[in-house]
Amino acid sequence: CRQQNSDTSCVFYSSEMTLKMKTEYELNSLFEASLENQDFQVYLQPKVRLSDEKTAGAEALVRWMHPQRGLIFPSDFIPLFEQNGKICSLDLYIFEKVCIYLNRCIQEKKDLIPVSVNLSRVHFRNPNFLEAFWKLKKKYKIPDGLIEIELTESIFFDTFQRRLVRDSITEMHRYGFGCSLDDFGVGYSALALLKDFDVDTIKLDRQFFSDITNTKAQKIISGFIRLAKDLGIHVVAEGIETQEQIDILRKANCEMVQGYYFSKPLTICDFEKWRRGSCKSR
Ligand code: C2E
Ligand code: MG
Ligand code: MG
Ligand code: MG
Repeated sequence: CRQQNSDTSCVFYSSEMTLKMKTEYELNSLFEASLENQDFQVYLQPKVRLSDEKTAGAEALVRWMHPQRGLIFPSDFIPLFEQNGKICSLDLYIFEKVCIYLNRCIQEKKDLIPVSVNLSRVHFRNPNFLEAFWKLKKKYKIPDGLIEIELTESIFFDTFQRRLVRDSITEMHRYGFGCSLDDFGVGYSALALLKDFDVDTIKLDRQFFSDITNTKAQKIISGFIRLAKDLGIHVVAEGIETQEQIDILRKANCEMVQGYYFSKPLTICDFEKWRRGSCKSR
């Protein structure tokens, strides 16, 4: 404990905090070189349409493959890079990788499926942030409707940002991007969001399905799905791992599911194999 001021406050430092600060410091100092060396990679996780079990889309998820430290997951660095703003260049980098992938699919005349990318709330500090993404979309000649931007539900609750978020969604559509509401249903007044924001897809949060045997939970899920359908909004159920969850979602007419039941996030190469049906990762 370090006495900061004789009578007002006291700051505690534990060994875990020191370790955390040390790790954060290290991860920060590795960032630029890792970006340069292409140590950040895009993994793709399939979104499977329940009616025919075909791959209807994919979500791009970042993985940090550090030569010395090994594989680092987003939860270990995204909050840190959101604090210091580095997330903006990382998101742009991942977005460009997705454009390069889609461009290659177009050149090779493969079946095209939409890919969604996660954008941090930090981008909204710059009202013109979408222009940089649109320029990349144009550079790689990606047709409209092939890239969807995922925004996490929490952005929509920030009353200061509401206007900005609404305008940004309009702009996304003008630029030919879809907009997806990630982690839907965990926050309060989630339903009001559907009225106020013109999103194309909602991703029902994994938490909904943790208690799938509960009949109330089942009714809430099917209610959300029906409502979204009435509003013309696509639905993806996230974090689906079991046959039981699949059965209930089928009964509720859920359109798409994403989760370990079908596949974990895969490298682009494994994703391609998976699509060809030669690599079952279930
Ligand atoms: P998210 O966008 O909600 O992504 C879904 C997360 O759930 C992913 O974790 C995915 O690997 C995991 N997941 C998928 N299926 C299952 C399942 O069946 N069971 C369980 N337990 N988990 C499942 P991941 O890849 O660790 O990413 C965590 C979060 O980090 C993402 O949540 C997203 O918010 C953020 N993130 C990931 N990549 C990026 C990125 O490129 N940019 C930004 N800004 N955020 C990203
Ligand atoms: Mg997401
Ligand atoms: Mg999510
Ligand atoms: Mg999430």
